[in-house]
Amino acid sequence: MEKVKKLLEHTSLKATPQRLAILKEIAKMGHVDLETIHKNLSKNFPSMSLATIYKNLHTLKDVGVIKELNIDNTKNKYEIAAQEKHHHLVCKMCGEVTDVFLDTSQISRQLKDVENFDVDYCEVYCYGVCSKCKEKSSN
Ligand SMILES: [Zn+2]
Ligand SMILES: [Zn+2]
Repeated sequence: MEKVKKLLEHTSLKATPQRLAILKEIAKMGHVDLETIHKNLSKNFPSMSLATIYKNLHTLKDVGVIKELNIDNTKNKYEIAAQEKHHHLVCKMCGEVTDVFLDTSQISRQLKDVENFDVDYCEVYCYGVCSKCKEKSSN
């Protein structure tokens, strides 16, 4: 709990039990959508509605504590923003989102050469089939 509390330290947001629970859930799951947060928190916070969580997610996103991932054909997922910069692998079979560390300097260099474009920030989503799903389908 202390770790997620720290995330709110430099924001104007109050560390309400609801916010801390939402942040803790996101930290635990890595990448998680609204409905899953709602489902997982309903045991401890039965009165917390989907709308309340949605509102909190947007507040947390606005102050930069969490990040919304816009993944094709899936519900928006959220992750803790204060992490080492990474990219995402998205499995089209099971929907699993995996963090991956890639060197994108080649992409930046290529865009500079070909388009004369200066890349500040580059975030990659790779869509495909994960190793677990490949294993399952080969059995
Ligand atoms: Zn998969
Ligand atoms: Zn991630």
